[in-house]
Amino acid sequence: MKILIVNAGSSSLKYQLVDMDGERVLAKGLVERIGIAGSKLTQKYPDSEEKFVIETDMPTHVQACENMLKALTNDKYGVVSSMDEIGAVGHRVLHGGEKFTESVVINDKVMDAIRENIPLGPLHNPANLMGIEACQQVMPGTPMVAVFDTAFHQTMPPKAYLYGVPYKYYLNLHVRRYGFHGTSHRYVSKRAAEFLGKKAEDMRIITCHLGNGSSMCAVDHGKCVDTSMGITPLEGVVMGTRSGSLDPAVLQFIMNNAKNENGTPEIKDIDDMLNVLNKKSGLLGISGISSDMRDVDAAADAGDKRAQVARDMLVYGIRKYIGAYAAAMGGVDAIVFTAGIGENGVELREKVMEGFEYMGAKLDPEKNKVRGEERDVSADDSKVKVLVIPTNEEIVIARDTLELVTK
Ligand code: AMP
Repeated sequence: MKILIVNAGSSSLKYQLVDMDGERVLAKGLVERIGIAGSKLTQKYPDSEEKFVIETDMPTHVQACENMLKALTNDKYGVVSSMDEIGAVGHRVLHGGEKFTESVVINDKVMDAIRENIPLGPLHNPANLMGIEACQQVMPGTPMVAVFDTAFHQTMPPKAYLYGVPYKYYLNLHVRRYGFHGTSHRYVSKRAAEFLGKKAEDMRIITCHLGNGSSMCAVDHGKCVDTSMGITPLEGVVMGTRSGSLDPAVLQFIMNNAKNENGTPEIKDIDDMLNVLNKKSGLLGISGISSDMRDVDAAADAGDKRAQVARDMLVYGIRKYIGAYAAAMGGVDAIVFTAGIGENGVELREKVMEGFEYMGAKLDPEKNKVRGEERDVSADDSKVKVLVIPTNEEIVIARDTLELVTK
């Protein structure tokens, strides 16, 4: 069966068509500027430099989906002869709240539940819904599945997911840690165990998803028992533009005391404050240079002090979570690095793993010289395996979709 994977954002839509017979990616595409002048679709193919581009107005996700199907079925640049060859669609959905502990076939009830979770994922869930509705409109009758970023973390116990605020806020408003990147943590923890010839159910694994957004996860015998992101993807280690964890009183202090040159408050309200924490903080806010780790690395290596401390903060944050999660699980058998920085950051991995011999974890600097490949980078005498595992959220979405629609 051929399965289409869709990840809809507010003005973009990413897609991939996978032939599940051999799990081969047939084509990947990106629609940009939906609802904005200059809409554009770009379709690419594995092992080929060829591109197919459609530039036409796409005022809504419906036109984006129509053009996606046009590109996939194009006489010259298409990869299927008709839409009927697409057996099912798997949608990435950000927030499943407490309702979804695993992927589900989409029906009206599921749509209502995704809608109910909009307050928890105000930017992503509405966009995900638009993507689903548009696909339903242009591909009527094709089964669709929702795969949630939060689902893998639903096995956390209350002691890990509750915040120390009055319990009524959990009961009435569902205020708790949910965690994100669940599809990635699930994939790399399982893949790490397979790579070592073991089962995730027999291991304690710490997964480090380090990209523009970063999160850490403790996977105890196959189940998530803790993760660093919270009710939103703002909590945890410092990220590209997000602050990560901080004392909430910092917000009040900045709001009361930060002033513009003319004496007016710099931050006008709590939304403005959250915008600073989400968009202007982290590596960008500390370094003042960039949110991109490659730029921060280059500036730090050239002697820029703020870039150096930004990088040190990320490394230190990751190290603290590794220590905490090893303590939480009573030990660790494997530490896994994934996503842009985790897969490519050779020096960052080396710095993160420095001095963990007391815990039985030791990196081999030579083996560690690897980017974007599945590899055991631990020293031969390291009790704890240190692995680089490129993430593949799309394949998880495709596998879940296949399993659910053929049940
Ligand atoms: P992602 O969100 O997974 O796409 O990851 C994006 C992050 O990965 C950015 O901060 C990039 O700078 C970082 N990244 C990508 N390639 C490299 C590299 N070769 N070395 C260090 N960081 C990298």
